[in-house]
Amino acid sequence: MSDDIKALREQLGEIADLKSAIALLQWDHEVYMPPKAAPGRGQQLATLCTLCHKMFTSPEMGGMLKKARDGAGELSPDDAALISETLYDYERETKLPESFVKTFAVEQSKAYEEWTKARAESDFKMFQPSLERVVELLKEKAELLGYEDTPYDALLESYERGMTTAKLKEIFGELATKQADLIERIVNSPNQPDVQWLEQNWNTKAQLDFTVRVLNDMGYDFDAGRQDISVHPFTTNFDVFDVRVTTRAYENELFTALTGSIHEGGHALYEQGLLEKDRRTCLAEAPSLGIHESQSRMWENIVGRSKPFWNHYLPEFKKYFPGQMDKVTAEDIYKAVNHVKPSFIRVEADECTYNLHIIIRFEIEVALMQDDIKVAEVPELWNAKVKDYLGLDLTDDALGCLQDIHWSHGAIGYFPTYALGNLYSAQLFAKIEQDVPDLMNEIGNGNFRPLLDWLRTNVHAHGRRKTAPQIVRDATGLEPCSVPYLEYLERKYGQLYGLVRSQSVPGR
Ligand code: ZN
Repeated sequence: MSDDIKALREQLGEIADLKSAIALLQWDHEVYMPPKAAPGRGQQLATLCTLCHKMFTSPEMGGMLKKARDGAGELSPDDAALISETLYDYERETKLPESFVKTFAVEQSKAYEEWTKARAESDFKMFQPSLERVVELLKEKAELLGYEDTPYDALLESYERGMTTAKLKEIFGELATKQADLIERIVNSPNQPDVQWLEQNWNTKAQLDFTVRVLNDMGYDFDAGRQDISVHPFTTNFDVFDVRVTTRAYENELFTALTGSIHEGGHALYEQGLLEKDRRTCLAEAPSLGIHESQSRMWENIVGRSKPFWNHYLPEFKKYFPGQMDKVTAEDIYKAVNHVKPSFIRVEADECTYNLHIIIRFEIEVALMQDDIKVAEVPELWNAKVKDYLGLDLTDDALGCLQDIHWSHGAIGYFPTYALGNLYSAQLFAKIEQDVPDLMNEIGNGNFRPLLDWLRTNVHAHGRRKTAPQIVRDATGLEPCSVPYLEYLERKYGQLYGLVRSQSVPGR
């Protein structure tokens, strides 16, 4: 390794250490910090973030990167990947002047405050001026970053590199039609599950104990992580050997803690599967939010809501809630955990309706960024789309356009990654079933090792050496597309609800 590369790696390592410290402070903020500490914590984070940004966007860093890239001798594949990925980040970050970054941060925290109040009052007008400023700033950001087709592309790039608005319109168009058709058949099916038995009080400690058992079985390493409680579950990491998850439990909900933990466990297994040799560099990162989400959704939905999973776990699960599930069969619980019901809230949506929530947000975001609509028109448009896609009448902003935190954080372009995660998860899983013919039987025996091994090799270990579409293409031989996901839904829910197969969805 040349001295130039050694120096570069050392400098990048220091920046990575700072980022880890920031993430640890943020974790503490969500998990343990006493409420009065908030303003102080805000200052600590602002100082560290500014320092990080300055170090990374300095002319010295640019010089070091170019020197390392252009130096004598051939670069090892790892060094070449590290330099090109870091240059990509460097070029994007240096396009945003420090004055813009500061203004944006100030507006963000104001917008978050206003959103919190507006949501509590269910009054979009209270949030409207903030959202107008955020949208204007994001338009400015898109111009600074540059784009070919539409400003929305520039924002998407931050979350799902290489994805374009045009491609998403094509993919989502097909999803919208076919998922809406499937939901209609489900809602009209006479075979609705009996979920009355769920209406009991479920001991939250028992719920949490069970999540620990399942996380262990999945292969989550508690010696290199831990699980805590937070209002909104999340996964964070400060190193390959320190990957933490959070969950939450409610007495009146049997599945919230478990599905939340499995979801975050899927994210965490990705982080624990990154390579030790990539520590303290950007190669120890996932290439996109969509591919990260493919892991959480695969574990939560395709595995954790499968029949074999519940065949295996039900006898054990019953022991955690003595006398409360004596008559419940694996079929009952399988039906209950896959209950389809159009509803207003995205985070509570089932697999069949989830993507429609995303499509509503995507269409509104694109329209905002292209000046096709004004911010003031958002609630009306939102409610119309909820009626159109989900068949529900909505008048309450808190249950509608004010439900998500994302816009108050300036995160426009983020939502599509959730739907892409669903698509990638099904496409990858269909290939795993081919490569590991006994896969569902192994899951039925509580053995997740073959699944995890496949994911380690084909997804996790690459870090940022491949983009998300490349990972999917190399693993499955196909471009990312919606067909496997639609087939998965049709197969699973067709059987669950005794549906006649729609002519419009291809067979397997
Ligand atoms: Zn997630």
